[in-house]
Amino acid sequence: MSEIIRYYNVLLPVVNSGIFTYSTTLDLKIGVRVAVDFNRRKITGIVLEEIEKPEYKCKMIDKAVDNEPLFSKKYLEFILKMAEYYHSTAGLTLYGVLSEKLLAMEDAEPFIVEKTDVVDITYTDEQIKAINSVELDKFSITLIHGITGSGKTEVYLSIAKKVLATGKKVLYIVPEISLTPQLIELVSKRLGYQPASFHSKVQGKKRASAFLSFARGEVKFVIGARSALFIPTKDLGLIIIDEEHEISYKQDKTPTYHLRDMAVLYSSILNIPTVLGSATPSIETINNIKKGKYNIAELKNRPNNALLPQIHIVDLKRCDLVAGVIAEPIFDKLYETVRKGEQAIIFLNRKGYSTSLYCKSCGEILQCDNCSVSVVYYKSKGVANCKYCNTDYRKIVCKKCNSVEFNEHGIGTEKVEEILEELFPNKVLRMDLDNITTLKSLKSSLKKFESKEVQILIGTQLISKGLHFPDVTFVAILGIDNIISMPDFRSNERAFQQIVQVAGRAGREQLRGDVYIQTVDPNSVIFKYILDSDNSYYDYELDRRKSVGYPPFTKLIRLSLTHTNLDKVRDVANLVASTLKSKCKNITTLGPVEDAIFMIKKKYCLTILLKSHNSINLKKAISISLEIFEKNKTGAMIMKVDKDPYKF
Ligand code: ADP
Ligand code: ZN
Ligand code: ZN
Repeated sequence: MSEIIRYYNVLLPVVNSGIFTYSTTLDLKIGVRVAVDFNRRKITGIVLEEIEKPEYKCKMIDKAVDNEPLFSKKYLEFILKMAEYYHSTAGLTLYGVLSEKLLAMEDAEPFIVEKTDVVDITYTDEQIKAINSVELDKFSITLIHGITGSGKTEVYLSIAKKVLATGKKVLYIVPEISLTPQLIELVSKRLGYQPASFHSKVQGKKRASAFLSFARGEVKFVIGARSALFIPTKDLGLIIIDEEHEISYKQDKTPTYHLRDMAVLYSSILNIPTVLGSATPSIETINNIKKGKYNIAELKNRPNNALLPQIHIVDLKRCDLVAGVIAEPIFDKLYETVRKGEQAIIFLNRKGYSTSLYCKSCGEILQCDNCSVSVVYYKSKGVANCKYCNTDYRKIVCKKCNSVEFNEHGIGTEKVEEILEELFPNKVLRMDLDNITTLKSLKSSLKKFESKEVQILIGTQLISKGLHFPDVTFVAILGIDNIISMPDFRSNERAFQQIVQVAGRAGREQLRGDVYIQTVDPNSVIFKYILDSDNSYYDYELDRRKSVGYPPFTKLIRLSLTHTNLDKVRDVANLVASTLKSKCKNITTLGPVEDAIFMIKKKYCLTILLKSHNSINLKKAISISLEIFEKNKTGAMIMKVDKDPYKF
């Protein structure tokens, strides 16, 4: 008896088209994983479709990994549409969102769901209204726009419980840095069991176990970072995205996707709701609400009636500085806070001791050998570090005159810690990605502050959101000028969001909070809107974007070319740009220009920016660019296509 041979297109996580035909005598279902040979190595792929016998010869499938599909047809449709949206290939997209290792995972220990005690709360009227506003059994996008501490988390969890009750699963996504023990504990209290976590700190066996258990529908609730969206969950019924405005939701590497946009795409394919939440929604989301694409529910009060903090702008030009760094009114307020036994948070978005070093004898700024950027000095470790290539410089020597004496410039959290430790001995704690590298260190630091072992917490973005400390009555923001002055059309938006989020850590319970912001430019328009509490900022910012033709009123694409040889990359970039300017007159082509950081890891970086209202015209321009690039590139030259870019 002769066996029937079938032919399947298989999607592989590889950096090219990714779809290849294999043959087999097995009768396979769409969405099962198969082990195949690809370029003489074993790799696991996903069966996409059965096809007629092709003209060309194809290799045999080694074996089927699953009997039943691990990936639904809708999931596969999602990956293909995502690839199309980002002008990438399905293979590269799959490669970018699921590691080869995870995809190949055949067995893992079942995820143990630990039971916890349920503690219920009574929702406020506003919360009930928000909970009921979400349409559950079809595709819908709802923004929960609630001030900091208004109980958004409780709203998400209540909606989640409704969905869980129908037997469907829930995915709750938060920015990586908000995945704190505090949040996991709260979620456990409301659900009655520990959620599975999926983020960069969950690795190895635990990662495999969370992945497979959720994929097979054995786990009902996953709380995770961006990457969790790509677990092929069975019976997914709801996606929650907290802090939807977070720029860390945009992935840097190809595929350069935005988590929120992809969640919206996925939930439309699955025909399920997505709930977005933020105290400071993105301009894109507000615009989608104005256009009627998304719904909105507002929480304007804090459930415990805690008032929003009082905000004060401190003009650095008009006051004395303590230790050359901290405005005197801020120091005075800090002193008073500590004396009263309350707690304070000092926010500065710069790690290290000083953000640059310059030579005492010739004035030269110390730069990285591999990148055109000044190195950050870490006094505690005695090194200067480049954050782009992560090189540590132990011997700090001037490249121009060989001097070893340097002056520091630009303050980081380490320096603020040193100053405050001297003024308030044993009362100070620093938390940034430099000293908080594990879940354990995060837990123990949070505990130290929670238990009031220390009164002053100094930190970066790491402490700006999600945290709830009842006795924090004072928040100082030191480095906002760094954000406002960034050469990026979103710098205003970022400064606004950062201030509101950090300020939201103050006075979350009985005690009213105060927020002091030090700046050299108190007249900056952003402060006017910070002091206004009626969200007029959004109208202002939307008007501004519209008048200058920036997103969300146009689409942007950034072509980012890099190579070790400047002349060569410049030639190709010029050719791409000039061709677009002559052939694609219906879009705007800007550049090429040198990137703000012109060299990274010894590679030169040039940018061409494409701008248009029309996606089809942009698509055409991209295929022309790619064609010219492929024809003319030399060696390892790269051109990254970044749709809806967030970095310039
Ligand atoms: P947000 O996510 O909006 O910043 P949270 O959900 O963290 O706010 O809530 C802030 C605080 O208020 C938390 O301590 C939370 O437990 C509490 N809270 C929220 N809703 C209620 C409620 N209905 N009754 C009492 N406390 C509440
Ligand atoms: Zn020098
Ligand atoms: Zn470097």
